[in-house]
Amino acid sequence: MEKNRHYVIVGSGVASVYAAKAIRDHDLDAEISIVGAEPSFPYHRIKLSKGLFTDLHQEKVSIKKEKWFVQNKINLQANTTVTSIDTVNRTVTSADGQMIAYHKLLLCTGATNRKLDIAGAALPGVHSIRDRNDADRLKAALQPGDRIAIIGGGVQGVETAWSFIEAGYAVTIIEAAPRLMIRQLDERSAALLEQRMLGRGADIRLGQGVATITGSGRAEGVELQDGSQLPCEHVVYSIGIVPNITLARQIGLEVRNGILVDEYMQTSAAHVYAAGDNAEFEGRVDGLWGSAIEQGTIAGSNMTGNPATYKRPVPLTLFNAFDTPLFSIGQVDEQCDISVTGLTEEYYSRLFIKGGVICGAIVFDNAAASLPYKTAIEQGIRLDGLDLQSSSIPDLMAEVTKRSQYQHQ
Ligand SMILES: Cc1cc2nc3c(=O)[nH]c(=O)nc-3n(C[C@H](O)[C@H](O)[C@H](O)COP(=O)(O)OP(=O)(O)OC[C@H]3O[C@@H](n4cnc5c(N)ncnc54)[C@H](O)[C@@H]3O)c2cc1C
Repeated sequence: MEKNRHYVIVGSGVASVYAAKAIRDHDLDAEISIVGAEPSFPYHRIKLSKGLFTDLHQEKVSIKKEKWFVQNKINLQANTTVTSIDTVNRTVTSADGQMIAYHKLLLCTGATNRKLDIAGAALPGVHSIRDRNDADRLKAALQPGDRIAIIGGGVQGVETAWSFIEAGYAVTIIEAAPRLMIRQLDERSAALLEQRMLGRGADIRLGQGVATITGSGRAEGVELQDGSQLPCEHVVYSIGIVPNITLARQIGLEVRNGILVDEYMQTSAAHVYAAGDNAEFEGRVDGLWGSAIEQGTIAGSNMTGNPATYKRPVPLTLFNAFDTPLFSIGQVDEQCDISVTGLTEEYYSRLFIKGGVICGAIVFDNAAASLPYKTAIEQGIRLDGLDLQSSSIPDLMAEVTKRSQYQHQ
């Protein structure tokens, strides 16, 4: 092992915490530093939509307590933005002029919210939530009775809408696609969710782009592409992410949408790794919490010389808003060979099957039972010999679980 080992991680999100943990698990003596632009300990970013009106500064929102960093001798330098990297001399330099030497470098710079590119988007009253500051600023700007227009009906937009409604604000969700949460839901489950949302006071405009944000001096409304006007005091948009790859570009790493990494989370430069929302693996930036944890862990392990490879997790969305717990897992599109549907008035589930194995599932009104579906997809349990047309989903899942256990005996 090299002497003077200093692992430096740029960015203090979830990927960096799990990378630091993996490094410490394998290397008890090395120095580990996380250098992050945000002022605090790494926190559960996903709480910013699900728990917008809870106290986002309480300790339990942190991913690990301060004690954990001390015990594991992980040096966290908050409020510090890295502005340049020298890969020849292996140093990073921060905005305040500090130079830090590394022997292995990990970029966990995450992503920024995609900017809304329409007239009026820069007006006060237009918000997008990526970090705790954004959430604090938005909450401080609210007045009782304010109306909120939410642009983007993906998971984050719908969860944010529910937070506002629970806090007593009037909400309209505007989504350009023909249905909400189009990556997670099929037509039927999206329609059921929409009914629930309407029943709990949300106004929903589907298949509608926003043409402009109107107002003089501050946002006063949005104008939709069909010319209709929605007066509101605030606009909150959530229309995707842009990976933070400026530093990677500066040092000539191969980038496309994100920083290109192989299955070891290694970039195109020696000693430099990337993980989380800034990393592009096999043509895609995952942009998901679970992937950031896994990629951070894999990167950390490889940085210490313990080979581990990244296998993209089956995408799983656990959702619980508008009194509707649901999960969506794997590939849930109409490209499957066959699907099995379970439906009563209030309950809906659907299994998507391709090539004799389950490739995806949507279960509405029950988010607790996702594990058997995840296992079935990950293990590729075959459904041979089962009568898919006349079996119910619970029967199929019982059989799949049995086969999965048998496979592991
Ligand atoms: C409101 C919200 C809700 C979400 N909900 C879900 C969900 O339900 N499920 C899900 O799977 N995912 C969700 N996500 C996405 C999830 O949060 C991300 O995938 C995850 O946080 C990525 O972690 P990361 O460590 O890669 O990056 P980030 O969490 O983005 O952290 C990167 C950190 O690096 C810092 N940084 C950037 N550049 C520099 C620099 N030059 N120097 C120093 N520091 C720098 C940033 O300030 C930031 O603190 C949500 C995201 C948001 C914003």
